[in-house]
Amino acid sequence: MICAKQVFRCFRCLERAGDKLTGAAGPVFVTLGAVLLSTGAFCFFEVVRPSVPLPLFSTPICVLIAFNLLMHYYWVCVVPPGFVTDTPRTPGKGLLWARKRRSARNRALTGVRWSDDVQITPGTLSRCRKCSILRPERSHHCRICNRCVLKYDHHCPVRINQCVGLHNERHFVLFLIYLVVSTFFYALFGWRYGLNALGWYDDEAWPYWSPPVPFVATYVLSVVLCLAVVIMVSWHLWGIACGETSVEAADHEQYRTLVSGRGETFVNSYDLGKRKNLELFFNIGKDGYPIYTLLFPFRIEPYTDGRAWARRPGYERHGGLRAGEELTDEEEDADAGA
Ligand SMILES: [Zn+2]
Ligand SMILES: [Zn+2]
Repeated sequence: MICAKQVFRCFRCLERAGDKLTGAAGPVFVTLGAVLLSTGAFCFFEVVRPSVPLPLFSTPICVLIAFNLLMHYYWVCVVPPGFVTDTPRTPGKGLLWARKRRSARNRALTGVRWSDDVQITPGTLSRCRKCSILRPERSHHCRICNRCVLKYDHHCPVRINQCVGLHNERHFVLFLIYLVVSTFFYALFGWRYGLNALGWYDDEAWPYWSPPVPFVATYVLSVVLCLAVVIMVSWHLWGIACGETSVEAADHEQYRTLVSGRGETFVNSYDLGKRKNLELFFNIGKDGYPIYTLLFPFRIEPYTDGRAWARRPGYERHGGLRAGEELTDEEEDADAGA
């Protein structure tokens, strides 16, 4: 009789093979994504944009949204997520990089500049069983990249073909937000042209450069993406507001059950309140960058180098959790596969 363990092992092998396949096909998906985004932008500006009301006001806004969408997609694909073996990065100079607030007080520590009024403590170290290196907390081993990633969120093989981690998570979330905004405007103002392209208005010719088929394809895709991505981005933003990555959201659920079984309460030490968590994630606010940096696709380094973390006042570690109870990558993998 085949035991459950062998069936489980078989599924894990299939999952690994699937990971390898999607990893190998990643560049194809990224190229397809870039082609679709560019085609969609071209169709919108050629066909739909002239009918958007208040052109003097709305045209610059449409251009800004499209610019953000394409640039954040580019950044999230090319900015490495931050590997544990990398040397800490410092913000670059030039037009592509945002400037910090003049009032921001800087305190250099391991190459990073951060606030004085937020309690930031070095992360505890653990050894990765796969690459045998010491890594700070919030890092995880990515099975596809086969490396440990700082503040690992997830590996995205389909859209960006790399991990989402400390250094590109801001671009990833802003890309999703601008994707929702742009597909919403496309869906809102483009439906009439979609029907025209399908031949529903026989008396109206199709006088555009964009052929009707790509127009209808990008229009339908916009409607579907708008609905799907709005759910995804809401889930991500809620996690950020709670001070959790995608991996931690699942881990903390288990910690809550474990700790409440002892009659105690689990406290996420990275949770500084919804507003502060969002400010730290986007690195805006008093000691970060100005809020207008959310409206332009600037490069911005995170508030930390991934080796130390802002903590809830009075917490050096998660409340209610005892030493050795933190889940390892292997346990997380097993739970995800179970
Ligand atoms: Zn590793
Ligand atoms: Zn990865």
